[in-house]
Amino acid sequence: MRLLILGGTTEATALGRAVAGDARIDGAISLAGRTRHPLPQPLPVRVGGFGGVEGLATYLREHRIDALIDATHPFAARMTAHAVAAARATNTPLLVVLRPPWRPGERDRWTMVPDMQAAAAALGPAPRRVFLTVGQKDLSPFGAAPQHHYVLRSVDPPPPEALPPDVVVIAARGPFAEADESSLLSERRIDVIVTKNSGGTATEAKLAAARALGLPVVMVERPPPPPARTVATVAEALHWLERRHAAAPRGE
Ligand code: NAP
Repeated sequence: MRLLILGGTTEATALGRAVAGDARIDGAISLAGRTRHPLPQPLPVRVGGFGGVEGLATYLREHRIDALIDATHPFAARMTAHAVAAARATNTPLLVVLRPPWRPGERDRWTMVPDMQAAAAALGPAPRRVFLTVGQKDLSPFGAAPQHHYVLRSVDPPPPEALPPDVVVIAARGPFAEADESSLLSERRIDVIVTKNSGGTATEAKLAAARALGLPVVMVERPPPPPARTVATVAEALHWLERRHAAAPRGE
């Protein structure tokens, strides 16, 4: 079975690791090429955009892909929409792996907002010290709220022109531990966190630290789920692959 995994997440790497030793599967992982030093992958890697729906459909045909698993980030909505359309156009079986979102507990002080613009507006007019962990895209709304001091953390530093004026950049890749997050929030005298609802464990510790410190969180909600067969875990994705093997005609 020729398998293409759309990656860039912990789940995609774990899935690749799980199928790497399976002689029945000829797998590859696709990365967008956003990070300068991507983590080593357990399967052959291709890097860069496909060129829209048409480009991905051509790739699926030319490489005679038997199964497509979209394990991209919950906020990589464009890639996922392209995967749905290209899979439909080429009749390629598609599964989306979408980790569950974080949910607030009783002691959490979250403000849910639909997008980055609303997140910047939710910070209000008075200057605040903001821990910004929203990645490199969509920083412009914070540039339009220059009264705040931002501590911005992302895997690679964003280009200077994308940054708000009063900012300290921390380049770091998760997973992060709660004790370290707690120290960072205290030392930087942060009074509000802005994050996307990515879900997963790698970047969850900041939420536990915020809870313990009584800090508010502005939580950007996810784009709508895709119209495709979707599972929440790598184990379920492996189960789906097993079922496809069982259903394949003998000799394949
Ligand atoms: P996006 O906005 O949904 O995608 C924009 C374009 O980037 C796509 O149309 C596609 O270009 C290309 N692309 C995205 N993922 C790709 C992949 N795995 N392989 C090949 N091309 C890909 O995606 P994004 O939010 O920029 O995310 C880019 C990558 O970073 C994804 O792999 C995602 O899993 C990872 N990531 C994203 C976030 C996040 O918060 N968004 C966080 C962690 C990791 P073409 O149209 O030319 O095919």
